[in-house]
Amino acid sequence: MSTRPYVLNSPDSFITDALRGLLAANPAIVWQADPGFLYRRDTDDDRVAVISGGGSGHEPMHSGMIGAGMLDAACPGLVFTSPNALQIAAATRQVDRGRGVLHIVKNYTGDVMNFRIARHMLRDEVTTDHVVVDDDVATESESGPGRRGTGATIIVEKICGAAAARGDELTEVAEIGRRVGADARSFAVAYRACTTPGSSAPSFELDDEEMELGVGIHGEAGEDRTTIVGARELVGRMLDRIVDSLSLTSDEQVICLVNGLGSAHPLELSLVFGEVICNLDERGVTVERAMVGTFVTALDMTGFSITLVRVDDAILELFDAETSAPAWPSVIARPTQVDEVTFAEPADTAADGPECGWLSDFVSRVVDSVDDLTELDKQAGDGDFGTNMTAALGHFDLPLRGSDTAVLHAISTSFFVRAGGTSGAVFGVLFRYLATAFEDANSFDEALGDGASSALGEIGDLGGAQVGDNTMVDALAPAVDALRDGRSLAEVADAAESGAESTRDTTASKGRASYVGENARGVVDPGALVTSWLFRAAAQSQAR
Ligand code: ADP
Ligand code: MG
Repeated sequence: MSTRPYVLNSPDSFITDALRGLLAANPAIVWQADPGFLYRRDTDDDRVAVISGGGSGHEPMHSGMIGAGMLDAACPGLVFTSPNALQIAAATRQVDRGRGVLHIVKNYTGDVMNFRIARHMLRDEVTTDHVVVDDDVATESESGPGRRGTGATIIVEKICGAAAARGDELTEVAEIGRRVGADARSFAVAYRACTTPGSSAPSFELDDEEMELGVGIHGEAGEDRTTIVGARELVGRMLDRIVDSLSLTSDEQVICLVNGLGSAHPLELSLVFGEVICNLDERGVTVERAMVGTFVTALDMTGFSITLVRVDDAILELFDAETSAPAWPSVIARPTQVDEVTFAEPADTAADGPECGWLSDFVSRVVDSVDDLTELDKQAGDGDFGTNMTAALGHFDLPLRGSDTAVLHAISTSFFVRAGGTSGAVFGVLFRYLATAFEDANSFDEALGDGASSALGEIGDLGGAQVGDNTMVDALAPAVDALRDGRSLAEVADAAESGAESTRDTTASKGRASYVGENARGVVDPGALVTSWLFRAAAQSQAR
């Protein structure tokens, strides 16, 4: 399996170079180089302080959670390596305001040990307490160190930070943190492992069609492996584990965190949340707050975790309190379940009424030629022209029925709504102006002339294409000239066709085709060709 390259100067300076940018972007955070921790610049209130820390590679946790109402300091270790006790002791000393310091520790042996050593070092100096976060159900059955600390950590940090800001005593802040931790569970899955910067292999191998269930945030392989399953089933299985471990029953309330592990796309995370809220609704569980985003990562791992935290109103009040931590979302809503989302289909043309012969001829000619049109766009553009034409015109029942205006309107709307690309916009405009002109004009020729002329003006304004730029304007402009000169429709169509043919000898300077330069020489512009077919269809119908 291939690995993803990192943006870096050198693997050795990856973390320090990243810290440099973090500090530059967040002047409220200060770096203490000896022995290495981050802390809040303005912490002079009389209150309990809260700190955390852990291996690097999980950003934006913990550094992004430093701010008023959250963490006072964070101790970064090397990649996936716990911070050392000297860092933690110095950070604790730095942030203490005489009311004591709470340590929020993820449940990994190294982290637990180093935080404990630091507290021991400071035992005659600073009052401390600690909360160990252990939310990962994938590691729950193992005898040994117990559940790992993962996504729930930032929620414990948030709630403890808010309790400290409110003025709670150290023992109270710690007690709240332990309660939240006890009511939190997570489960993570990955479609691809992570790679440590500088290493040439991912932390574990997965075949393309496989996924890993129960992965850890240090790139640990999971407890199980399966062929990739659909999101709905996957989310159901993950929630089974979480709900079971929490003994969550209907009528309970939770905070839900859907968290990207490093290379999950926001669309994927939104999709997951849609499945989560639907699934929990079926279980009778109410999601009081939704966090959907990338907060606790395993470097570049492709995957996500789900965290549920059982809450009551007192906890929600702390969760909702303000914070200035840069990575905490400024808006967290109480979600609602949404059944289905669709794009409305544009209305098709009328099922009865008079046949609209010329536009039926045009549409069927385009639809029958999509492969050839795509081939032209492949040679001179990006190859999607035929797809866009099919999207816009392929759904019409032929023959089209209704007045010229009605059918032109339907075609215009369909281009705007269904076709992508430049052609959706350009042909949407052409047919819209034609529709309006056919409503008002006295004759077919006048309507065609007025509509084409107005469209030409607007298309020129829109994309700046002039004759010779190798676009549909090369067919439209000569047709408009011929119409203005009062030529017959057959001559108008001839003018449009020779305009389209002229694009064979030019290279594009507008539109995507401009990116392929000389490769476009010898190829007719498909947009110009289609435009000439419209005028030919008009001429043939009027000649009948
Ligand atoms: P895309 O360029 O987004 O891939 P399509 O493949 O759907 O769009 O459409 C390409 C057609 O759009 C070209 O054949 C050309 O006729 C037309 N076109 C491109 N740029 C312009 C422009 N600036 N003005 C008018 N028509 C244009
Ligand atoms: Mg294209």
